[in-house]
Amino acid sequence: MATASKVEYEPVIGLEVHVQLKTATKMFCGCAVQFGVPANSLTCPVCLGLPGALPMVNRQAVEYGIRIGLALNCQIAHRIKFDRKNYFYPDLPKGYQISQYDEPLCFDGELQLPIHDTSGQPKICRITRAHLEEDAGKSIHMDGSTLVDLNRAGTPLVEIVGGPDLRSPEEAYVYLNTLKRNLSYLGVSDLSMEKGSLRCDANVSIRPKGQEKFGVRSEIKNLNSFRAVRAALEHEIKRHTEVLEGGGSLSQQTLLWDEEKLETRPMRSKEEATDYRFFPEPDLATFDVPREWVEKVRATLPEMPEKRLLRFLDDYKLSEQDAVYLVGDKALAEFYEAAIKLMDEPKKVAAWVVGEVTRELNDRNIGIEELQVSPAELIELIKLLDAGKLNNITAKEVFHGMAEEGAGALETAKKLNKLIEQDEGAMDAAIAEVIEEFKDKAVADFKNGEQKALGFLIGQCMRKLKGKANPKELGPKIAKAING
Ligand code: ADP
Ligand code: MG
Ligand code: ZN
Repeated sequence: MATASKVEYEPVIGLEVHVQLKTATKMFCGCAVQFGVPANSLTCPVCLGLPGALPMVNRQAVEYGIRIGLALNCQIAHRIKFDRKNYFYPDLPKGYQISQYDEPLCFDGELQLPIHDTSGQPKICRITRAHLEEDAGKSIHMDGSTLVDLNRAGTPLVEIVGGPDLRSPEEAYVYLNTLKRNLSYLGVSDLSMEKGSLRCDANVSIRPKGQEKFGVRSEIKNLNSFRAVRAALEHEIKRHTEVLEGGGSLSQQTLLWDEEKLETRPMRSKEEATDYRFFPEPDLATFDVPREWVEKVRATLPEMPEKRLLRFLDDYKLSEQDAVYLVGDKALAEFYEAAIKLMDEPKKVAAWVVGEVTRELNDRNIGIEELQVSPAELIELIKLLDAGKLNNITAKEVFHGMAEEGAGALETAKKLNKLIEQDEGAMDAAIAEVIEEFKDKAVADFKNGEQKALGFLIGQCMRKLKGKANPKELGPKIAKAING
């Protein structure tokens, strides 16, 4: 018997992401798409699957689908064809889901990730396809019974199928964040994992390094956050490795991630539909997607993050880290650009947006859209700082006050009594008092050449002046007062 030599394994990961579209109405009927309203209040014969009811395609949903496809560098199909995906589930009243099988709306795209491969090139993940489908309803398990809410049934979805191109849980995590970032530029979805408007299934296998053929994969469902995706993949890779190293073999499986126990477990086989018996949806005719339509949609695409990133690096000479951060949020990037239109100091303004503005947003748990400080008001603040009317500490305090009260920089600085008036008299008086108070200690030390002592004396003066002084100005003044 040969002793097993240690094989190094490489993970292969491909993700399937469902995006709920923010259309006014559902995919095939006129019911409103809305979250958090009374159960089953947004239903009609079509989305209830009543016999004889006929679906009609939502043009806006198709347009959003094209928008997503173009943003992911996909080809757009020349015609739309829907298929039935048959399976039984209590929250699927028709007994089938209308989806797209062999002719997806979008195909052959790619997503560029803000990480580099071994040759230094940006890592690319192929987008195999993105197709339209309808969502199912929701089963709510309560007190030992199950209730069904069909408000979500028929909500338009785009399923984005990524190529098996990711090689670590971390790359999968970056892929998801990048995909979400790019989709956020399009305004086609809420993209909330909490509300379920963004969902991910993760496929993973391992293979001996250097081998081309893929290994047997697991598909993991029930992933509630990007972190959960990463953790589940790590767990599953470890499990696969242990099985293979132990001489065992794997079978293709669908697993559920258990967020509490941090482990995967097989779905009950009942939940694992294997043959959907796809066939063309007889109630919907195929229809053409004219190239003029595609080009019209393309013309409405915003500048996408990959391009914006390059521009921020080239035009504003930002660090890669700051630039990636800023373009990560379309509204934040736009806030930043509006601000630097008013002050041609891209790095200085970036430091504020990446630093204090972000801190404030995180503290308040809000997005930049909800911040009560406009780009112009931020610049007003930076100008007060530059003019010596505020110092680095009080400027931050004033910024916090602006976010609190929604008032401008000067007004807030006055109100908070932080404005440095060039009151030479007050400054001289404070310096004299401090020198007298510390003449035996810090002042003597300073005279003996201890530079640290000056910092202490500046701090004491700042205290007396209640922060309303510029420490850069105080230093030389104190030194002069001591040395005569
Ligand atoms: P299915 O039709 O069974 O869902 P697909 O070929 O559409 O399978 O692949 C679904 C997802 O699984 C894709 O994101 C793809 O990248 C990924 N995938 C396919 N094969 C493997 C594999 N061997 N290991 C890891 N991921 C895989
Ligand atoms: Mg699939
Ligand atoms: Zn309906």
